[in-house]
Amino acid sequence: MYAVDLSYRHALVMGVANHRSLSWAIARALHEAGARICLTYANDRLRPAVEELALHLPGAITAECDVTHDRTVHALHRKLERTWGSLEILVHGVAWARKEDLEGKFVATSRDGFMATLDVSAFSLLNVTNHMLPLLHRHGASILTLTYLAAERAVPNYNVMGSAKAVLEQSVRQLAFELGPRKIRVNAISAGPVSTLAARGIHGFVGMQHHHAERAPLKRNITKEEVGSAALFLLSDMASGVTGEILFVDAGYHIMGL
Ligand code: NAP
Repeated sequence: MYAVDLSYRHALVMGVANHRSLSWAIARALHEAGARICLTYANDRLRPAVEELALHLPGAITAECDVTHDRTVHALHRKLERTWGSLEILVHGVAWARKEDLEGKFVATSRDGFMATLDVSAFSLLNVTNHMLPLLHRHGASILTLTYLAAERAVPNYNVMGSAKAVLEQSVRQLAFELGPRKIRVNAISAGPVSTLAARGIHGFVGMQHHHAERAPLKRNITKEEVGSAALFLLSDMASGVTGEILFVDAGYHIMGL
């Protein structure tokens, strides 16, 4: 299906909860291009679902990693070092916020809620990258995270997740600057709304999708497969000159002024 050849590349893909996850679409695109895949699950409860999905990607391995526990991030690094010895691709598709922080007043966000959202949804990009650096810097690598327009615009109910996405996008630029000399590229895809577990946690998500489809130049919503193919571009040598970039995959919604 894809002309891109990622044979001999090792790809750590974080953030697969189920077959609807954007990270799952990315993992499938990378697999079809020949990459070896490691999927992570946050804890034992989520393990069976991720292991079941991994069966659809022959040769894929799985590992535990809750990004809020450094112990599991360390363990993930050790497992990848033992199993693969190097990592050329890192996909960060992890985000989380408390339900009440995605429907109440933004001004009333609690300190704990703010910190927890930024920890999981933004700091984890730095922390996981830092832990994986010894594997990443040997041959050069490409890192990708997933963001949303609420990083730069006010979006109803997105609240503290918008704050996290703003920090995440700044982190993409700062990491791209710092890791560029090691031949590590860092980019993000800003996706339009796609119905996933995390997206359904946003109060009024269905109305948001209708609005996007009505206003976007392409007059529709995007699919997770479109995120997968854009990710394949950014993670492959086809994008060898691209770093620090936020690529919108949103049917053009973000260009509209009215
Ligand atoms: P999703 O399928 O629910 O994926 C979110 C992932 O984050 C899940 O796999 C979840 O794992 C994981 N996660 C949460 N807390 C974690 C932790 N402490 N440690 C490790 N993993 C943790 O939803 P998605 O929409 O595909 O989200 C992927 C990314 O795309 C997110 O950054 C999201 O903000 C972004 N995005 C989504 C949309 C959209 O409309 N869907 C649009 C723009 C950007 P568990 O569920 O197993 O806990």
